[in-house]
Amino acid sequence: MRSLQSEIEQRGARIFELVDQYPESLFSKAGFYQRMMALSMRDEQFKVQMFRFVDVLPSLRKSGDIVQHLEEYFAGMHNGFAPVIQTGVRVARFVPWISAFILRRNVSGMARQFIAGKSCEDVMKTLRKRRAEKIGFTVDLLGEAVLSESEADEYAARCLDLLECLARETQGWTDPLGKDSELFPVVNLSVKISALYSQMNPADPTDAIAHLAPKLRPILRRARELGAFINFDMESYAHKNITLQLFKTTFGEGEFKDWPDAGIVIQAYLRDAEADLRNLIDWGRARGTRFTVRLVKGAYWDYETIKSRQNGWNCPVYFQKPESDVNFEALSRVLLENESIVTAAFGSHNVRSIAHAQALAEELGIDRSCFEFQLLYGMAGPIKRALVEMGYRVREYCPVGELLPGMSYLVRRLLENTSNEGFLRAKFSENVSAAELLRDPKELVRQNRANLPKATIPATTEDRHHKNGASIESPPGDIYENSPLVNFVYQETQEKMRTALREARNRFGEKYPLVIGGEKVWRDKLTPSVNPSAPKEIVGYVAEAGIPEAERAVKAARAALDKWSRTPFEERARLLEGAAAIVDRRRYGLSALEVFEVGKPWAEADGDIREAIDFCRFYAERMRQIGRPRLTQHVPGEESYQHYWPRGVALVIAPWNFPIAILCGMVSAALVTGNTVIMKPSEQSIVCGAMLMQIFEEAGVPPGVLNFLSGPGSVIGAHLVDHKDVDLIAFTGSREVGLRIWESAGITRPGQRELKHVICEMGGKNPVIIDSDADLDEAIVDSIYSAFGYQGQKCSALSRLILLEENYDRVMERLLSAAGSLRVGNPEEPGMMVGPVIDEAAYKRIQEYIEIGKSEATLAYQAKEVPPEGYFIPPTIFSGVKPNMRIAREEIFGPVLSVIKVRDLDEAFEVANGTDYALTAGFFSRSPADIDRAKAEIEAGNVYINRSCTGAVVGRHPFGGFKMSGGGTKAGGADYLLQFLLPRVVTENVTRHGLAPEETPEYRDEFLWPQR
Ligand SMILES: Cc1cc2nc3c(=O)[nH]c(=O)nc-3n(C[C@H](O)[C@H](O)[C@H](O)COP(=O)(O)OP(=O)(O)OC[C@H]3O[C@@H](n4cnc5c(N)ncnc54)[C@H](O)[C@@H]3O)c2cc1C
Repeated sequence: MRSLQSEIEQRGARIFELVDQYPESLFSKAGFYQRMMALSMRDEQFKVQMFRFVDVLPSLRKSGDIVQHLEEYFAGMHNGFAPVIQTGVRVARFVPWISAFILRRNVSGMARQFIAGKSCEDVMKTLRKRRAEKIGFTVDLLGEAVLSESEADEYAARCLDLLECLARETQGWTDPLGKDSELFPVVNLSVKISALYSQMNPADPTDAIAHLAPKLRPILRRARELGAFINFDMESYAHKNITLQLFKTTFGEGEFKDWPDAGIVIQAYLRDAEADLRNLIDWGRARGTRFTVRLVKGAYWDYETIKSRQNGWNCPVYFQKPESDVNFEALSRVLLENESIVTAAFGSHNVRSIAHAQALAEELGIDRSCFEFQLLYGMAGPIKRALVEMGYRVREYCPVGELLPGMSYLVRRLLENTSNEGFLRAKFSENVSAAELLRDPKELVRQNRANLPKATIPATTEDRHHKNGASIESPPGDIYENSPLVNFVYQETQEKMRTALREARNRFGEKYPLVIGGEKVWRDKLTPSVNPSAPKEIVGYVAEAGIPEAERAVKAARAALDKWSRTPFEERARLLEGAAAIVDRRRYGLSALEVFEVGKPWAEADGDIREAIDFCRFYAERMRQIGRPRLTQHVPGEESYQHYWPRGVALVIAPWNFPIAILCGMVSAALVTGNTVIMKPSEQSIVCGAMLMQIFEEAGVPPGVLNFLSGPGSVIGAHLVDHKDVDLIAFTGSREVGLRIWESAGITRPGQRELKHVICEMGGKNPVIIDSDADLDEAIVDSIYSAFGYQGQKCSALSRLILLEENYDRVMERLLSAAGSLRVGNPEEPGMMVGPVIDEAAYKRIQEYIEIGKSEATLAYQAKEVPPEGYFIPPTIFSGVKPNMRIAREEIFGPVLSVIKVRDLDEAFEVANGTDYALTAGFFSRSPADIDRAKAEIEAGNVYINRSCTGAVVGRHPFGGFKMSGGGTKAGGADYLLQFLLPRVVTENVTRHGLAPEETPEYRDEFLWPQR
């Protein structure tokens, strides 16, 4: 008996033989598409620009715009194709309408290679041709990202129409193979689950299924009546668990339990894939009815790797291409070994993967009529023909839809065809030998592992935070690695959060003391902290400080200063790292507390805790970099060293909206730089403040170095700001209080030693501009999130959406329906996007602004249903807003968005910059020139292009604004610690009678901590 490998080689060779009889036209040299692909494969820069151009083209309506984009994308290219491209651009400039016409035609032609038709009637022409070639079909409806429930309903309705049409048009058609055909209905529809519900949140599978199942049932019912097959496509990893669960839930229902014509996709590039497949098979056996699995490698590899790296998540996909191939083969075996309950559909263009499935089926004695191969429309035509000729069942996956919504699909296909790793490129463009293409992927995995450079081997836990290889030339954020966000896609993390919420609830009503000079201080008066979602619930009580406690705290901090300021910075840095480790350990508990005390949705609360950890670790590393006295310049005979002393006693006054992160950030910066600290949390988040105190105590902060005072800002805050013994005030909060502090700190009081230094971060009135060529799928999702995430209570939140006349109607239509689909409610429930505002005062103030908005502008949208109890404000959008109106100028700090219509981009920038504030701003565009302009012209401390304008990450997006938004400091940035320090330079003449040491060390430590 021949080995499996030699069987694979023999079958593979046969496929290649047949393939070579019909060369692949996609990779031949003629035509626009072919030339573009060839250039893309030779030049990465061209490829990026070309695919971006293809992506934007369908959204451009004027010829001039098309030519302008062509010029912007390609005119600056300096590579071998530059002369050709530049000539093209020059011609295009000369006769824009002809050029635009030609470009459009070419890109449409390219799209037509991968998109089988615009409508059902259109696609039928293709399906009929394929029928003649004995190739079956599954049809997939292309669509824009679904942003609202009306768009989701429309998708469901289109699925139903498509089913009807396909069934009608294919009456009398039979299975091309004619054997075991009952397993393979002729009409086969592939459904994208995310397109059926706009608010799908990985943290909340129950909600998703509750919304998805009712939309699916009519489609399934009709499919069953029509004898059609329904397949659930698999999308990004965030949706995977919900899709699997939905499949099992709906097909486990009485009505569908005995229906075999259902399938789902398993992606072999996922490390979870085998567990998921085995679980599905167990489910199938328990259900007792056959079902189908389409096995693929997966279409979102780049997206998943980028996303997980950005968030610090374990990457769900394999890193090496041959690992995906190996897994595909392992899963092929699992599928075929369970053929009695699951029908296999192998979705691949890779001849090795295909030949393996064939050989394995043969080995297991499974007839070729019992499974099928599926390939994509427009790809690997010769392989499809070869498989048909070999007597296998082949089905083609045919996307149907318009060009604009089809762009993301088209770009995915272009990437796949040009990928360095891809089979099709290797075979049809690079003519890699058959032997190489048919090699066992296990061998390649072994070979790749052996050749892996040492640096890619995972660092120790210690190294995770102090990033390997960072040097003085590295970007400042590279000195450490951000803590990962919790990924709520897993049941385990959801469960941990639920348990933490239960436990936090059990601690409701606990009492917490002040901490002064290391002592717990109780007062008769206790301040209650309430749950804004249910104001009758008291989250906890904290002792309320008055003036005497404030005085005691100043004395304690002063007394501790001498020793703390001389404590080696390494020790202080370790204190921060100890605190970070404790925050990390208590992560879920702290997040749960935030859900209750300040109404944060799960992911927002977790983001806050992550930021606190990051502040501690980042500042610890920064202190190590700047702590030692450093030579200022090499000059013979003289040595000058600059180093830093702490400023003294720091007063930290923090807001409630990032109740642990911002408090922890300011406190940790002050501590690591050697200042002693009085920390005063916001009155609305005192329990979070008490927790942070506990954490620093547990980490070992010495008595008096950190003192915890909770009490009314107007009493103790004001007293401490004016205090002669307070040297530094770090404040984040409202403009009103910030300006008062700034002014008061300017007055020098009797006995004051230092000029008071103020670090002041205040509010914003943040604009987002949507350019005429922006990708609306992204722009609207991100704008909605920026405006309404955490109820608009972030200083970075979007409050002025600036739209160009040209696309105003298109944006508004989708924006308003997207807002109308938001989930508003108690954030204790996972996946809630809009929770309550912080307290009654905020509630009343925001309502007043809504009334002002109604009198000044037009109420374009307001949510109707919000919970009756709690401080819930319905998401509200005003249109017809003019830049001089109050709602366009004043910070509202709630879920209220003003939309301002402008003539053009000049006016857009003028409006964006026309307020007192300069904190964050966003710009959505696909024009390189407009993006450059935005980068240069928008007045904001943090300008975000093509992404939401909230969610700054420590080290990555140093955060803070100017004008009336703040004093120009950047929390989480390389320079931040300098605000807490006084620079000092010590110069020594080291010559003696003309004799000077030849070498001067770069660093000295001797005079950093003088003995006393
Ligand atoms: C009919 C059909 C339906 C499909 N439906 C879906 C679907 O619902 N959901 C979905 O996600 N995909 C789906 N795909 C798969 C996807 O779109 C790609 O076509 C497929 O992954 C390409 O694999 P291949 O075997 O043809 O080519 P190959 O060239 O052998 O493999 C390419 C694939 O390898 C993987 N890969 C690339 N680089 C790496 C790396 N460095 N490390 C690890 N793995 C890597 C990627 O998955 C990449 O797509 C479908 C494919 C077909 C043919």
